[in-house]
Amino acid sequence: MLFVSALFFLFLVTLLLARYAWVRREVPAARAVAAMMAGISWWTLCYALELLHAFEPGLVPEPEAMPLFWFKLMFVGVCVLPAAFLIFVLQYTGVRERISPRLVFWLAVEPVLVVTIALTDGLFHDWFLAGFTSSETQQFKGGPAFWLHTLYSYLLTLVAYALLIRFIVQTRVYRKQAVMLLFGGMASSIANILTILQALPESLQGLDISPFGFMVTAVLMLLNIRKQGFLDVMPIARSLVFEHMADGVLVTDAYGRLVDRNPAARYFFEYGDRNLERGLPITELVPGLVDGGQVAPEIEANGRILSVQRNLFHTATGKLRGVVYGFRNVTDLKQIEADLREQLSNNEELRHALKEESIRDPLTGLYNRRWLDEVLEREIPRALREQSSLSFCLIDLDFFKRVNDTWGHDVGDRILVALARLLKDGSRKHDVAARFGGEEFVLVLPGLDATRGREVVDRLRHAFTELDFGPDGPANLTFSAGLAVVPDHATDRENLFKMADRALYEAKETGRNRVVISVPFS
Ligand code: GH3
Ligand code: MG
Ligand code: MG
Repeated sequence: MLFVSALFFLFLVTLLLARYAWVRREVPAARAVAAMMAGISWWTLCYALELLHAFEPGLVPEPEAMPLFWFKLMFVGVCVLPAAFLIFVLQYTGVRERISPRLVFWLAVEPVLVVTIALTDGLFHDWFLAGFTSSETQQFKGGPAFWLHTLYSYLLTLVAYALLIRFIVQTRVYRKQAVMLLFGGMASSIANILTILQALPESLQGLDISPFGFMVTAVLMLLNIRKQGFLDVMPIARSLVFEHMADGVLVTDAYGRLVDRNPAARYFFEYGDRNLERGLPITELVPGLVDGGQVAPEIEANGRILSVQRNLFHTATGKLRGVVYGFRNVTDLKQIEADLREQLSNNEELRHALKEESIRDPLTGLYNRRWLDEVLEREIPRALREQSSLSFCLIDLDFFKRVNDTWGHDVGDRILVALARLLKDGSRKHDVAARFGGEEFVLVLPGLDATRGREVVDRLRHAFTELDFGPDGPANLTFSAGLAVVPDHATDRENLFKMADRALYEAKETGRNRVVISVPFS
C-alpha cells in the first residue's frame, strides 16, 4: 500500500512537471522533457491502478476480456521514455537542433506496435506476457514481443548515451552538466534492469521501481532547462559561436581572474611567450586593458588595434558574477580611416590651392579681378547695411608703356611686383589690393570715406615715387588714381567702377601723379 501511495504521489509530481515543461515548450528540448514526464505519469498511474486492482478488484475494475488491462495500458507510457530521452539528447548535444515530424513518426512506430500487441495479448496470442505466472507476486515471464521491446528501448537509450559521451569528450564548458545527465540516465536504466531481471531486494520483490529511476533522469533534464536557460540547453550552438567567432572573448570572474577564452582571443594575445593562463588577473594578461581605472576603448596588441567591449553579468541577486570582454580587430578599419582622413586633407589642400590659384594673380600674388568682384559683392551691401563708407580706388601707372620700351619688359614686371607689395603692405588687414589687369590696380578700403581714402592712396602714391629700381631701372615713377566711395558716388559694383574709372581718366587728363575723387551723385 505504501508503494501504491508512492506511485500516486509520483504520478501527481510528474504530471505537474510535465505541465511545467510544456509551458516552456519554446525552449528547445523542453517538449522532450514534457513527453518524458507525461510518460512517467501515465506509467505510474496505470501501474498504481493495476496494483490496486490486484489488491481490491472491486475498487478498480478491468475489462473481463483483457486480463492485466491496466498493466498493459501502462506500456503507452513506458514506450515513450526511451524515444523522448533520445530526442532530448539529440537536441541537447546539438546533433539535431530541430526534430523533424518524420523522426517523431518513426520513433512512434514501436510504441504503437507494442501497445497494440500488449492490449491484444491473451486474446489472439501470447506474445507479450507469455502467460502471467503468479497472481500472488504479480510476476510475469516476458514473451518475445516484450523482450524485443526491451531490446529496442535499450538500443535507443544506448544511442543516446553514446551521443552524450561523445559530447562530454568534446565539450569543455558543459562537461559537468552532461556528466550529470549521463548518470541521471543511468539511474533509470539501472532501476529498470534490476526490475526486469527481478534482482530487487526481498521487500521490493515483484515491484517495478523503474518509474522512480526515470523520474530522477527527467528531473535532471528539467533542471538543465530551468537553470541554464536557452543557451545552455543548446550548448553546442553557444560553443560553436564562441569557438569560431572572429572576435576575441575573455571571461573573468568577479575578481578579474581569467575563467575562459576563445581561440580568437588566444590568437590576439598569445604571442612571444605570452599565455592566456586561467586564473591570472586579466590586467596582467592584457596590458593596457585598464587605464586609470577605466577600461580602454581600444588597445594595441602585437601590432593590432583592438576595440574593446565589456559586459558585466550578475547573479539573480545582483551580485557581480563575472565580466565578458569582447575584442574586435579594427586595425584595417583604422588604416582605412587614416587613409581616408589623409585623402580628405589632401583634397582640402588641393581645393584650397585651386581656389587660391583661381583668385590670385600669378605675377604679383595679389587678388585678381574675379576675387575683387566677390569682395565687392560682399562689402558693398555690408557698408550700406552698416551705414559706413567704402573707398574704391582704381590705380594706373603713368607712362608705363614708355618704361617697358626703355627698360624692357622684365623691369616693367619688377615694377609691377614692387607696386603690388607696396599696396599690400601699405594697407590694413581688411583692405583688399587687387591687380585689375595690365598695369592697373585696385584698392578696396572698407570703412573709409573719401577724405580718409584719399589720405591712404596719397600716402601710397608718395611712397611709390620714392621707390628706387637701381641703375638698370627708372626712378620717380608715378601713378594716377581715381577714387569713388560707397554710398556717396555709387551703391553697386558697376557704377562704382564707372565712377572710379571716370575719376582716373580725369587724373590722367589733369596731369597724372594724383588722386581724383569722383563727383558725388547729383
Ligand atoms: P598712361 O599714363 O596714359 O596710362 O600711359 P601708359 O603708357 O601707362 O598707357 P597704358 O596705360 O595704355 O599702357 C599700358 C601698358 O602697360 C601697355 C603695356 O606695355 C604695359 N603693360 C601691361 N601689362 C603689363 C605687364 O604685365 N608687364 C609689363 N612689363 N608691362 C605691362
Ligand atoms: Mg592702363
Ligand atoms: Mg598706364
